Amino acid sequence: MKNISVIGGGTMGNGIAHVFAMKDYQVNLIDVRQEALDKALATIGKNLDRMVAKERISEQDKAQALSNIKTYTSLKEGVETADLVIEAATENESLKLKIFADMDEHAPSGAILATNTSSISITKLAAATQRPNKVIGMHFMNPVPIMKLVEVIAAYQTDKSVTDDIMELSTAIGKSPTLVNDYPGFIANRILMPMINEAVYSLFEGVAGVNEIDTVMKLGMAHPMGALQLADFIGLDVCLAILNVLHDGFGNPKYAPCPLLVNMVTAGNLGVKSGKGFYDYANGVKDATVAASFAK
Ligand code: NAD
Repeated sequence: MKNISVIGGGTMGNGIAHVFAMKDYQVNLIDVRQEALDKALATIGKNLDRMVAKERISEQDKAQALSNIKTYTSLKEGVETADLVIEAATENESLKLKIFADMDEHAPSGAILATNTSSISITKLAAATQRPNKVIGMHFMNPVPIMKLVEVIAAYQTDKSVTDDIMELSTAIGKSPTLVNDYPGFIANRILMPMINEAVYSLFEGVAGVNEIDTVMKLGMAHPMGALQLADFIGLDVCLAILNVLHDGFGNPKYAPCPLLVNMVTAGNLGVKSGKGFYDYANGVKDATVAASFAK
């Protein structure tokens, strides 16, 4: 595989393009919005500059990586020479089903179609194509250039040879691929989201305050940040959406989102991106103060 197309130039798409371009793959980065593509290239440039400043790569490596990336606003033009397409567009099932049908129509028939979805069924996306055996999940973690894990998710229909190729490719770009099967939340979110939900329940029931819950997780469990702070970084709306996928997918009440989480999302307190969640970020992320309590 040499030609990689990435659909969506947002947070994840630009990171995925960055990593492949650094390893000398030819990357076509596709977004419906030209501004997103301009911003993606600027972000990749800035991240590469940081690597040059740390003497991890040379100016020449940076120039080479940037020259490996071409941008497109047309999906058709961007995928027509692809060996692998990685979809990293907005997390919305009907949007992704449409993108998968379009990728299937315009990418070469032998190309593998992958998705970076956090929670949508890969088996369902595969079923929207004429090549369900060549559809797979590649769940990169944020920030992509730094985080080593790629959760590789085999759909019910994925061929073993396709899984093997994607495991090998993930290793070739310096990542540590880990294979899981396609069931709600895969592994990462199936374990992470109930932990976050339990932290929110602990606050909701008045067992402890925000700082106390996060301190227990940081100092007691050696987590780099507390569960509530992590939820703020991920986005409380994203956490709620994934919990709903787990709840609907398994039909098990243990995944029911805490009413406090539902209220905070309804009120627009979404975490870092809205300026307030469990913490208030008015003075910046480093000087965040506690904003939520069980009494609210
Ligand atoms: P984002 O909002 O930063 O970027 C999404 C991009 O998709 C936008 O630039 C948007 O213009 C583009 N887009 C929308 N419709 C499109 C279309 N039809 N064709 C091409 N581009 C289109 O989102 P993100 O955080 O990068 O998330 C992308 C995917 O990665 C989602 O499926 C998300 O669940 C998953 N994911 C996100 C994270 C994270 O921490 N942000 C982590 C793992 C996985």
